[in-house]
Formats: sequence, C-alpha cells, structure tokens
Amino acid sequence: MQKINVKPGAKIEDYKAYGSLYSSVLDFLEQSKNSVEAIKGRTVWMINSTAIGGGVAEMLPSQMRILRELGVSIEWLVIEAKENAFFDLTKRIHNAIHGSGNGVFTDEDRQVYEAVNQQNLSKALELINDDDIVVVHDPQPMPLAAMIKKEKDVSIIWRCHIGLEEDTEVTDAVWKFLSPYSDDYDHFVFSLPAYVPKSLRKKASIIPPAIDPLSHKNRALQIHKCIGILYQSGIMKDHKAILYHRYKHLVRRVLPNGDFGNVNEQKDLDFLYRPVVTEISRWDRLKGFKELMQAFIKMKLDNQKNGDPNSLEYKRIEMTLLVMAGPDPAFVSDDPEGDEVLKELTEAYQKVDSALQNDIAILLLPLDNPKENALIVNAIQRSSSIIVQNSIQEGFGLTATEAMWKRKPILVSGAAGLKYQVKHNKSGIINEDPKDIDSLSKTLAFMLNNPKERDKWSFNGQIRVIQNFTLFSQLILWLEVLAKNK
Ligand code: UDP
Repeated sequence: MQKINVKPGAKIEDYKAYGSLYSSVLDFLEQSKNSVEAIKGRTVWMINSTAIGGGVAEMLPSQMRILRELGVSIEWLVIEAKENAFFDLTKRIHNAIHGSGNGVFTDEDRQVYEAVNQQNLSKALELINDDDIVVVHDPQPMPLAAMIKKEKDVSIIWRCHIGLEEDTEVTDAVWKFLSPYSDDYDHFVFSLPAYVPKSLRKKASIIPPAIDPLSHKNRALQIHKCIGILYQSGIMKDHKAILYHRYKHLVRRVLPNGDFGNVNEQKDLDFLYRPVVTEISRWDRLKGFKELMQAFIKMKLDNQKNGDPNSLEYKRIEMTLLVMAGPDPAFVSDDPEGDEVLKELTEAYQKVDSALQNDIAILLLPLDNPKENALIVNAIQRSSSIIVQNSIQEGFGLTATEAMWKRKPILVSGAAGLKYQVKHNKSGIINEDPKDIDSLSKTLAFMLNNPKERDKWSFNGQIRVIQNFTLFSQLILWLEVLAKNK
C-alpha cells in the first residue's frame, strides 16, 4: 500500500476567473458549506489500484486539491500486488461487470483476491483512524472494507466506475462473486442509475465522473504551444521521447519517412494541416481500437473506389490521418491485457497496405511522466478534427468529456456511458454499434465532410460539459455523500 502525494495545482480562485465556470464555482461554494462542516475533523481516505492511467487516477488529484482548499482532510492510498494472478483476476472482474468474458470465478480466484488485499491491510490500519471515512474505488481493493471494519470504526463507501445497463449471465455471476464483500459497505456510488445492481439499490448514489477544466490535460493551449508539445514529444519530430519504447519494430509515428530537421519543413506540419481522427484510451479490447482502424481503412478504400478525385470531399478523406494513442504498457501495473491488446493492434496494422499504413499512427504515451502525458493528450486532442470513442462497453468515457470540453466534434459508440454523455446530432454523433464497420466508416466520412455540422456539435458539446460534467458539480455530489455517511 502506497500513500500518493498530490502536487499543487489550480486554486478555486483560478476557476472563478473563467467566466464560463464562474456560476458552477459559486454554486459549489454555497452548496458545499454544510457538508464540509459535517465532515471536519475526519480524514477521507481514497483507495484505488493505480496512481497513473485511467479515469480514477485522472480525477482524484483535482478533487483532493479543491477539497483540501476548503479544509477537508483527504488522502490517497494505492494498493500494491506482486502476484500477476491478482490483476489477471481483477481485469476479469472488470470485464465481467461490462458483460464480457465467461463469468467463471473459482475458489482459487477468491483466495488470490483476499490474500493480496490482506497484504495491503496493515499499512491501511496504520494510517486510518476511528471515525474516518474510507472510499474504495472499483473492484481491486473491494475486500478491504470488511478487513478494515474489523479493526476500525469507520464509514466505508464503494465507488464503482464501471457498469452495464442490463443484467446478463456474466454480470449476475460477477456480482455474486463480489457479494460477500459488499455487505460491509455503508454506501455505494455508481456513475449511472442503470449500473446499480438490484441488491445495492437502497444504499446507492449516482455521481457522473467529471473533468478538471484547468488541469494540464484540459487547460487552454494556444496553437503554437500545441505545436511545441507535439514537436518536443517526438510526435512531430522524432521518436526518441515517447514512441517505440518496446514495439519499435511495430509502432509507427505520425509522420512517415524520417528525420525532420526543423519544424518549418512542410512534412512536420502534416499533423496540423491534415484532418486528424483520434482515439486515446487504454489498450483494452473494450475500447474498440481495432474496429476503428478497420472502419478508417474502409472509409479510405471506399473513397478511392467511388469518390471523385477532383472533389473536395475526396481530398479531405484522402488526406485524413488516424491517430490511436494509449499508455506504454511498461508503465501500467494494473492492466495485464494492455500488452496483448497493443500487440494485436500492431499486428493488424502490419497487415494493412503500406500506402495506408502511412495514414495511421499508433502512439505510446509516457504515462510514467503524468505532466508530459497530460500535455501531449491535450495537444493531440486540440489538434484533432474528430475525436472518437468507439468503446464496445464504457461506464463513462472521460476522454469523450475531455474532447467536448475542448470543443471538438465527437463520434462515440452507443455504449451506455457514452450515450448519456453525448446527445445524438446535438453534442456529437452516436454510431450505435461499434463493431459495425460499414456504419462507422460512413459516419466518419459524413463527419469529416460536414464542417458546419461539426461546429454545431462541438459548440453544444462544450456547453453540455460546462453544465454537467465539471469538477464542481461532481464535488457537490461527493460532499453530500460523504456528509451523509460520516
Ligand atoms: N489517458 C491518458 N493517457 C493515455 C490513455 C488515456 O492520459 O495514454 C487518460 C484519458 O485522457 C482519460 C483517462 O486516461 O483522462 C481514461 O479515462 P476514461 O474514463 O476515458 O477510461 P478508463 O481508462 O477509465 O476506462
């Protein structure tokens, strides 16, 4: 178990200075007063399984900074596991909550699950005091509640960031496997009402995830900054900084052919003057990268076959690049499938016709350096013409919210979380079935060739985020839950 330091960042006053956020900050200050008072003197302990990568690690630092500024004592602990079997199991649990996999969990699985949590217990007990409030995130540390409660008189909340709209045999099986651990929780928090299993409905609250508009990932970046970040990071210049760590032979960079001596070279500016379609996610089969690549290729081939080479529409599609970016698996400890999924994608990429390979880039981002990672994600998103989240399942896609905040047109699948975030044809486009390659390729072409519509979707998308999915609306709900369960 490791205690994580949260670096200083934006202050409440900084958010107030942003006109569009002003009223949510004021609402927050007004509505949070009583709750903050109610939990004074207690420490809130956040426990999850990683300090880098994924939605939870993305949200916690900003939430903690703001709560601390209000005088709330709040700390972050990350569980550790040496056994590969543990994260193999918790990934199976994660997939099963999304309805994937075979739903088989054995006694041996249970032993591994409990043993690793037991190993993390002593450090937790050293730090946590009676009367504190513990928030356990997602399934990995879930068994800790009962273990902590045996020794300490605390309130414990389980925050589940994943879910599926409907019950299936697989989801029933995984909730059954987890049910012995849920008994000791005082309260549950899910992202959407449809994700709450029947047995937990009486004690559950809903808090949609949210972004921090002033974090390195979301703060405004002028175009010269974007160029600088992409150039320095190696995306525009060379591969040294971030690419090829382990898949040198497979992973391409954005620009083909070589050494770019200086940024004025036309080739370097490809990333800015060519339309870019981007998906940034963990290397997870449920993120739909492979299907997106197939659809992108189909769009290009259909265009070459049926398009009019003299038309603007033809040229736009011909010039478009696809960027698929995700963390270097070397730095992701809690997701054992990442390596395998990246390999599958790069192998599929190798089979693509070489002319088309030049239009596709698979990028590995430096998750080991959170600030650099955040700025690169920010710059790539801001340099994109369309941002895609083609998830097969998605509890709630922070990447979609990040794109909408940056006023980027977004193309998402009909996965439950994404459908809640994006209103079809208002704040983006929903392509219902992420595995329907034909429909996805046509939707992409349609979006690329409708710049006026793109402006409309992205404008509405940004407003939707400001009204519903920023840090402050989320913290109001969190403080209510914490105060209720003190
Ligand atoms: N992310 C990142 N670097 C990567 C891949 C993803 O910083 O290489 C971030 C992404 O910007 C988002 C978070 O990780 O903030 C992923 O959250 P999301 O809810 O989209 O998916 P999750 O990983 O939680 O399933």
